[in-house]
Amino acid sequence: MDFAASSSASTSAANDVASSQEHYITSIEEDHETTCWGCGIRLLVSPHAPIFKCGWCGAITNKNALKCDNQYYKWRRLRDRCFVIVVLMFMIFIICGGIWAVYPVVFSISFFCGIFHSTITVILSVSTLSSFGLASFLSPGIPPRILWGSYPAVGKGGLENYTFCHYCSKPKSSRTHHCRSCGMCVLDMDHHCPFIGNCVGAANHRCFIIFLISTVISTAYVSIISVYAALHVWPPVNFLDHQPLHRFFSYEMDLNLLKETIFALLRSTVFLTPRGIALVYLFIASVSVGTGLIVLLWQQLSYIYKGKTYLSQLSASEGEGGERDCKNFVRFFGCQYIAARCCPTFWNSTKSHKK
Ligand SMILES: [Zn+2]
Ligand SMILES: [Zn+2]
Ligand SMILES: [Zn+2]
Repeated sequence: MDFAASSSASTSAANDVASSQEHYITSIEEDHETTCWGCGIRLLVSPHAPIFKCGWCGAITNKNALKCDNQYYKWRRLRDRCFVIVVLMFMIFIICGGIWAVYPVVFSISFFCGIFHSTITVILSVSTLSSFGLASFLSPGIPPRILWGSYPAVGKGGLENYTFCHYCSKPKSSRTHHCRSCGMCVLDMDHHCPFIGNCVGAANHRCFIIFLISTVISTAYVSIISVYAALHVWPPVNFLDHQPLHRFFSYEMDLNLLKETIFALLRSTVFLTPRGIALVYLFIASVSVGTGLIVLLWQQLSYIYKGKTYLSQLSASEGEGGERDCKNFVRFFGCQYIAARCCPTFWNSTKSHKK
């Protein structure tokens, strides 16, 4: 960040300047003096400097930062709660619809097939719903309390690169961002996710990733099992046009066969039972949701690999940021101890996860 202003280091430094250059101090206009919000020390700054940094505590003052109000906060919370209810209902609908549509089919194939499917369904449902609940209702990460506002309680460099959050009226570190939807400052904030109605931050980022992984596996399983079950309940497909054999393997034949298959399938959907329609819906819903979540999961995993969050990626300049390393995954999921025991040669660093 470029700081156009100069600032005095401390009260003692300011007194030294005052005694040695009294004629200069008296010429300074009143609006050149300001008080550091971090340590309360008076600073001499240029009136043209919108952003300046305290030489003692390191706190950054931004004159351009507007005094903010939490307008529309209640509406944002209401929108988030509605999203959470819709997502929960959708998940319960998929689970119940899946049970109703798939169970008779898999149990009619074999008892072992039914038991296997039941076990997988229970594991995926519990993991998806519990990780969703944790990501949704856990606090995203409250920044640690820090002393501020008075000298000498605030030591030298005690508020290095801290800015002031005008919403919460308290200091905000470079790792912290204020979320207007949650109405709070969040440590290591990644983004505000309306679908979980919560911020993704230091405290619930892991639950969010587990939720994404669990949902992607669940949607893949639902799409496979719904196709498998649909093949058993699908009405007979009647082809109207039978192509002569000598045109086999020709380009025209391939195209006609494809067209005829699609039309025959569409014709047969008229005779679909409600169970068959539910299976078609399950397949379309799981494939579309799964595709979107795979993209989001890939993006999230790439940020973890780089040792960053979505917001730190946005604010970092080219080349700046954490080290790209597979160890970032181990640090992120908190498996350092297991990694060190199982593979000491891989795990030889004690460096913490950089955001
Ligand atoms: Zn200060
Ligand atoms: Zn805040
Ligand atoms: Zn938020």
